[in-house]
Amino acid sequence: MSKSNETCPLFDTHAHLDDERFDENRATVIENAVAAGVTNIVCIGTTVETSAKCISIAKEYPIVHAAVGIQPNCCAEVKPGDWERIVDMARSGDAIAIGETGLDRYWDDCPFEIQQDYFDRHLALSKETGLPFVVHMRDCQADVLEMLQAASLRGPLNGLMHSYTGDANGARECLDLGLYISFAGMVTYKKSDELRQVAAAIPADRILIETDSPYLSPHPKRSVRPNEPALVRHTAECLADVRQAPLAEFCRQTHENAMRLFRLQ
Ligand SMILES: [Zn+2]
Repeated sequence: MSKSNETCPLFDTHAHLDDERFDENRATVIENAVAAGVTNIVCIGTTVETSAKCISIAKEYPIVHAAVGIQPNCCAEVKPGDWERIVDMARSGDAIAIGETGLDRYWDDCPFEIQQDYFDRHLALSKETGLPFVVHMRDCQADVLEMLQAASLRGPLNGLMHSYTGDANGARECLDLGLYISFAGMVTYKKSDELRQVAAAIPADRILIETDSPYLSPHPKRSVRPNEPALVRHTAECLADVRQAPLAEFCRQTHENAMRLFRLQ
């Protein structure tokens, strides 16, 4: 595919730019992203420390925005006062989203009830601050949907499903709850036909793209490690293809969706 001369503004809605693998060359990684057409990157927190680091990176680089939260696999190591610091950061005006939060039954890092407690706190904090939440869901679609449904009884939800790998019914339910669905490199892999079909059916005004860097680089750059925001372009190309949309139009649409969700316009 050589579509490199088409105008294609890209919004990477989920990158762990705080990762120490980027400590040596973060400025270069961000320059690479800009050269690839990336105009916005959400740097996503997983702990108090990484959330604070995302905020300081966002202050240094205008194209970077911070999300603050405690990732489900990190909930067991929460220290007294940590949650209060997340709340303070969320209220400070320095963050544009709450997360990443959610549930995970794949890793065994944190008891499930503690994950559920923190997931619900993040959902309530999103409601209180008006900032959208970012959901991580691994091997627990029914549990996540149950908690989102319960939260929706307290008022309308505002958030996104990150690196979505659930099924079509799950996506439908999330869309019905008003959420956006974001796809990462996994959707570009050969074996991901079913996931590409799910992505093809998401309404144009609710789909987002992300790298989830430094993890899982998209095809055909799968061997590139670490993954970085510049590579989000390959996920955009794959999704434009399966949706039979012109690449420039798909980029424009996903960019506009992210700007609307994160209230950047
Ligand atoms: Zn992540």
